[in-house]
Amino acid sequence: MPPKKNLKMKNKFESNSSGLPESSEKKSGYEISGESIERALTSPDFEKVLRKTLAQVIKHRREFGFLIGKEMTADKFHYSKPIGDLEESSTALPGAYEEMEANLESRGLDREDWIELGDFHFHGYESLESRVIYLSSGDIGYTSSARKANRGYNNFDIPSIGMIANAVSSTGVEALVYQEPLAYSPSDKPAIFEEIKETLMELRATNASQEEVLEALRHYGYQAGMVHFSDGKLSEEDKKFIRSLGMVAKKTPIDTRDLL
Ligand SMILES: [Zn+2]
Repeated sequence: MPPKKNLKMKNKFESNSSGLPESSEKKSGYEISGESIERALTSPDFEKVLRKTLAQVIKHRREFGFLIGKEMTADKFHYSKPIGDLEESSTALPGAYEEMEANLESRGLDREDWIELGDFHFHGYESLESRVIYLSSGDIGYTSSARKANRGYNNFDIPSIGMIANAVSSTGVEALVYQEPLAYSPSDKPAIFEEIKETLMELRATNASQEEVLEALRHYGYQAGMVHFSDGKLSEEDKKFIRSLGMVAKKTPIDTRDLL
């Protein structure tokens, strides 16, 4: 079981929002505020891509998803087009990444100029799938690889936010939102990462409850919660949880900087 360092760190940063001088640790980090993350998930562009993606899910009865990028030096967000996959039960997020990367490059933004803030994909439509949202090994693997890309390109250890959704009506969406511990990436510790993957598979195999899935993620230091969207709009009561995902990411340690 990993240390619960992230909780202590989070509290430390939260207690520093009172106008007191920032610690040097905070200054050397890269801050993405909770309000910034809230803006990324409530912008008109986000609502539009979510509505489009949901329409595809309902029309084709299969997975679709998209990615969210944030410019390094501005609170500007970019969204990939909705993407499916050759297989019905997966989403080609790396394809969405390539599409977004090429699109931003054509607008003069190199990969160093933006970070991967999050990924959003549907696991299905309520009438066809289990109501409970389970994570696959590929899901937590993708989130880890996005963080690795942020480490390598942007030089800060920025955990991206994973969102897995279930369409509950033609306009209603519920989503499981998760984020790796700020202090470390589980994928840096292969034994722990394997244990997490096995736990998630076991939960799916035993038809565990949604709360058990969230508890398992939290046990390993992930932030995890459920949010709801109606016609592309995040519900008011879920905005508080989204804001709690604000972070100050540390500079990428040399030993975890991946070769690109
Ligand atoms: Zn998935």
